[in-house]
Amino acid sequence: MKRRLIGISGVAALVAAGSFALAQQAATPPAPAPPPPDVKIETVGIAPGIYMLVGRGGNIGLTVGVDGAAIIDDQFADMVPKIRAAVALLAEKPVKFVINTHLHGDHTGGNDAFGAAGAVIIAQENVRKRLGTPYVNPQNNQPVAARAREALPVITFEDSATLHFNDDDLEFTHLPNAHTETDIVVRFRKANVLHMGDCFTGGFPFIDANTGGTLDGLILAHEKVLATIDDNTKVIRGHGPLGNKAELQAYHDMLVVVRDRVARLVKAGKTQEQAVAARPTKEFEDKYGGGSFNAEQWIGRAYVDQKAALEKRRRK
Ligand SMILES: [Zn+2]
Repeated sequence: MKRRLIGISGVAALVAAGSFALAQQAATPPAPAPPPPDVKIETVGIAPGIYMLVGRGGNIGLTVGVDGAAIIDDQFADMVPKIRAAVALLAEKPVKFVINTHLHGDHTGGNDAFGAAGAVIIAQENVRKRLGTPYVNPQNNQPVAARAREALPVITFEDSATLHFNDDDLEFTHLPNAHTETDIVVRFRKANVLHMGDCFTGGFPFIDANTGGTLDGLILAHEKVLATIDDNTKVIRGHGPLGNKAELQAYHDMLVVVRDRVARLVKAGKTQEQAVAARPTKEFEDKYGGGSFNAEQWIGRAYVDQKAALEKRRRK
């Protein structure tokens, strides 16, 4: 998920890694890029040997133990020295595995450096396909290069895989067409900890339609995950504070209510402006409107999504 407000049309252009700068240029006049803010990494203990690293970009999951260190997501390239320093406070050896929850650049930006240093990168196969393929940014028709060879996942899977590491089983499960078409949930089976990537955040979700994301798929992803966890499960969000099952359930329920309202507005032939004016998010705006999208932006995204879903159903 991208953290800046750049308007609905700009958001639609936020696709794979590397496109963020281009999308920003498309939405605002060219200006010299400000230096990255001097963000410190905050290390949050979750369970014995398991931590959440909060810096700039997506939250990182970290496991340290007898087998060494593995991280789930790696923020931006310029955060790598700080990530390494935070890991080094807890682990003697460098990062052995990097797991990507999905393809976005605020979760995979460190892949180049960690991959070049010998870490094994693991992800759902669509991450490798998309990061390894140049494409044209639909927002500004500018070509976006493929990521460097060492940034690409070297172990990929279609539906699921397990990494046996530090006396736990890290289970990776694909969540199809949710935030993107590349999402996985990572579950530490023994420690009862999840990393949800951007399928769970502190604000209204970003549905990245340009990389296969759909609101219906995101809701199904939550249902799949909720069926496997309990009240003691600790849930790392892609962005935002550490969460739990009740919070994920509430997030899911909010999305169902808003999705159904937006779908009714679409079926009734309302325009996007009329859908925004109907405020289908009203009772949720205090809680979820302070993230990457305000309610208007998010209703716009949900409207486009549900319109596409309706057209798809009609074509069948
Ligand atoms: Zn994302």
